[in-house]
Amino acid sequence: MIARVTLEIALRKEFDYLIPPGLTGQVDVGSRVQVPFGQRKVLGCVTALAEESAHTRLKPILKVIGAQTLVTPKILKLARWIGDYYCCAPEVALKSVLPEAVRHEQAGWRELLYVRALPFSGELPKLAKRQKDVWHIIEERRELPLKELLELAQTTAVTIRRLEDKGLVSVAPQISERDPYGREHILPSQPLPLNDAQAKALAAIKAAMNGVIEAEGDKPALVSRTEALAHLHAVGGPHNSKADEPVNGKKTPARTFLLHGVTGSGKTEVYLQAIAYALEQGKGAIVLVPEISLTPQTVERFKARFSSGSLQTLVAVLHSHLSAGERHDEWHKIRQGRARIVIGARSAIFAPVEPLGLIIVDEEHEHTYKQQEAPRYHARDVAIVRGQMEGATVVLGSATPSLESFYNCSQGKYTLLRMIERADDKKMPVVRIVDMRQTLRKGTSTPIFSPQLKEAIAQRLDRSEQAILFLNRRGYATILQCPLCGFVAGCPNCSLSLTFHRQEQKLCCHVCAHTEPVPPVCPNEKCRNPAIRYSGLGTQRVEETLAKLFPHARIKRMDSDALKRKDDFRRILGDFRVGKIDILVGTQMIAKGLHFPNVTLVGIIYADLALHQPDFRASERTFQLLTQVAGRAGRGDVEGEVFVQAFTPFHPAIQYARRHDFAGFYEQEIGFREQLKYPPFSRIALLTLKGRNEEKVKFSAEHLKREVEKALGGIKDLVLAGPAPAPLLRAQTYYRYQIMLRARRMTALSKSLAELTRAIALPEDVTLSVDIDPADFG
Ligand code: ADP
Ligand code: ZN
Repeated sequence: MIARVTLEIALRKEFDYLIPPGLTGQVDVGSRVQVPFGQRKVLGCVTALAEESAHTRLKPILKVIGAQTLVTPKILKLARWIGDYYCCAPEVALKSVLPEAVRHEQAGWRELLYVRALPFSGELPKLAKRQKDVWHIIEERRELPLKELLELAQTTAVTIRRLEDKGLVSVAPQISERDPYGREHILPSQPLPLNDAQAKALAAIKAAMNGVIEAEGDKPALVSRTEALAHLHAVGGPHNSKADEPVNGKKTPARTFLLHGVTGSGKTEVYLQAIAYALEQGKGAIVLVPEISLTPQTVERFKARFSSGSLQTLVAVLHSHLSAGERHDEWHKIRQGRARIVIGARSAIFAPVEPLGLIIVDEEHEHTYKQQEAPRYHARDVAIVRGQMEGATVVLGSATPSLESFYNCSQGKYTLLRMIERADDKKMPVVRIVDMRQTLRKGTSTPIFSPQLKEAIAQRLDRSEQAILFLNRRGYATILQCPLCGFVAGCPNCSLSLTFHRQEQKLCCHVCAHTEPVPPVCPNEKCRNPAIRYSGLGTQRVEETLAKLFPHARIKRMDSDALKRKDDFRRILGDFRVGKIDILVGTQMIAKGLHFPNVTLVGIIYADLALHQPDFRASERTFQLLTQVAGRAGRGDVEGEVFVQAFTPFHPAIQYARRHDFAGFYEQEIGFREQLKYPPFSRIALLTLKGRNEEKVKFSAEHLKREVEKALGGIKDLVLAGPAPAPLLRAQTYYRYQIMLRARRMTALSKSLAELTRAIALPEDVTLSVDIDPADFG
């Protein structure tokens, strides 16, 4: 027998190997194997078995990794789709479907020595006092790790060996599973009685899970495409004359739902009950959440419902804060079918849950679902493809859906489910926009706190309520600038200014992490002004100014600088929850999914920051950010208040966020997208060339453009832009030029791009990367 193997080293080819007699029956499609390649031993994945090969003198497979095939046929198919659609080599796609800790043979189960009581007949043999004490512990526990026993009994291994000699106990290695949440004490929870909106949403999802495809407007239980359109038109009139055409002339069955529910509308409860239904049907579920909201709180809600008592292993958790060993164990629990529910970040979409009934993508609009290195897949989109391949129902949830997903509802591709009220009867917070231009007119330097916000903070401190202040920028001051000559301290490797970090007294690049000391005078030879100063604003400076204004307040900062250790995140949130902190200052890290009943004030220091990005999604991001942050206020008994400080207070993204008006925002933004032919009216492929020599990169980019024109000229509606310097031209000493391609459909474009990138000749030191559906244009 011959096995066809994709190797992990990037070669874009498959190689045939012999299955030696010693491994007969152990090699299957999806097996991870180690094979000889030249002088080396490399890892790979079997993608097919065959009777014979076109090649002679085949080498044998050296060994098989793991007892079960690691890549199941379904996941293999998904990996192939990723390779094709995202334009990357199959081995690159395959690599991403298994966690590092599973792919390599070094990781394995942890074995510990266990002491176990053996059955004995007749009288207990005569034991010394010490031995008897130890024996009682073992007898009671039946079995326990040796280490734990030694601690418990305050004894040494010699005593245990005596008991072993007497035939009372056995000491043997045994697998001990690592449980990343083993220390938490989780109280079981019961399903809540659902309110109307929740019940309707759940009924629609259950119907789809039963294979019932609802026709448009058929059932009042479900907001159909017609209703979605009617809703949209009621808001702003028809924006798109083609909106009624079915996509590609055929209809996709309504197995994908968009659950648009305001923060606190009880989406999680709907997820929980839908998962319970999948279990009832004998199926499993995958829940994706952005890495940032994978807090113990989130995991706990799922474990509390499904993982208590005898069901302890039902929920597996996969994310980057686990140790390699923990990840190994969690993954294998899923592969062995013991864990039926997986909750995790992006890559959990590849969890080998089988059969799969349901996929939930919470906060579906989050751009962290897009992987920023090859394979550059979008986990939400992979979820939809996987759902279609495996007949699983997919639920995308968000308070601020992406324009793409909402548009897909209007096109009848997804079914829209809406929950417009908070489940807990709490009111939506009052949002006040503060015009910072007025504050600026009164003072001289750039203001941080408007009088209104200062007053509101003081009030909260008086009433022992809590506040969150939010600024999407780390550091102390953005830049170091000389007021005389205008010199700005920049990074020597990137086309970016350096950020001042007060505590370390250093300038730091947020792209390449370059640091340098603060110059005592302006570095400009001709200037040498000693009064060089900091302008702009970062979280550190907010924290410091706050401490001066409110010397008695307990303030904590939460951003990636303040959180150096794995546990910091948990600890600070824990302290905040129990009221040991009055004011939390942070970056977007604190904007998501957190739930603090005593927070009655949220302040957004500069709402405009996110608007000034060279990205067609800048407006959408700002709207989402403001809405999400505002959702943090007033989750307890007291009504919440949100202050949004802005220099452009009348920008639509800010105004619609103030009114919690998603539909209004969508309506005006979608018009703009259609006019400029941006997604969802097109699909984008971004080609980036990078190299250390700017001339060479530029020249290669022009060459690439001509080749693209030649090869892709036949694709309908193709729009080609560039080459242009990337918004951040120079990053980590590399110059970058970009070409942007837009077309109605991606499939044909990906295919031709894959061929082109394979064939094109570029200078050695210039590399080309392809990003399909890019989330970031930096
Ligand atoms: P979301 O996920 O939409 O932000 P959550 O699921 O976190 O909302 O729900 C917000 C709050 O409302 C939670 O405290 C939750 O326990 C509560 N809740 C949800 N559904 C119900 C319900 N049917 N009855 C009472 N309380 C509910
Ligand atoms: Zn840099």
